[in-house]
Amino acid sequence: MAAAEAPAGPFTLPPLPYAEEALAPVIDAETMKLHWGAHHRAYVNNLNAAVAADPALAGLSLEAMMARMSTLPKAVRDNGGGHWNHSFFWAIMAPPGTGGQPSPRLLAAIIDQFGSLPAFRKAFEQAGLRQFGSGWAWLIVKPDGKLAVTSTANQDNPLMDLVPAAERGVPILGNDVWEHAYYLSYRNRRGDYLAKWWEVVNWNDVNRRFEDARKRR
Ligand code: MN
Repeated sequence: MAAAEAPAGPFTLPPLPYAEEALAPVIDAETMKLHWGAHHRAYVNNLNAAVAADPALAGLSLEAMMARMSTLPKAVRDNGGGHWNHSFFWAIMAPPGTGGQPSPRLLAAIIDQFGSLPAFRKAFEQAGLRQFGSGWAWLIVKPDGKLAVTSTANQDNPLMDLVPAAERGVPILGNDVWEHAYYLSYRNRRGDYLAKWWEVVNWNDVNRRFEDARKRR
């Protein structure tokens, strides 16, 4: 089904919480325009088409889909994952200089798990660099409450039941390492993008997600 003919719902493209140029120079406006307005829109349209084609999917929330992804069609894995991941991604970024810092409680958990904030950042960048091909690097809260750095391929994420148990948890930070996320500005230099990206992390939102994940346990 062509995107123009895709059903209008139940899923919709969320508005960006800032202007397309607001993350520059870390992420340029043209990348944001394509990434949000074309790539994310396509995941939403394709997810709506997949849901329309399968009555068993009617009424399922995105979160419910993640929890039982091993039983759902590949189109839902790819496009439902794409929709969840990108909605999350826009929210955990903010214009340079506005995202705040890790909260004292999150910083303590990071130091407890990784030794220091720089050591965590290095581990996260390494996860992004090591992910072969397209995928994501994540900071998750595991079911035991501990933090972990993981990565997933394609549009998978740590909420999906088909991800190995050791890699599963609630994402509180994640970076898109698909080439479409960085290629216009960084070309093939994924490491440069990963290093620069910290300037647009919305720690205020990450802190809130950390507290929510702790309470959910
Ligand atoms: Mn992407």
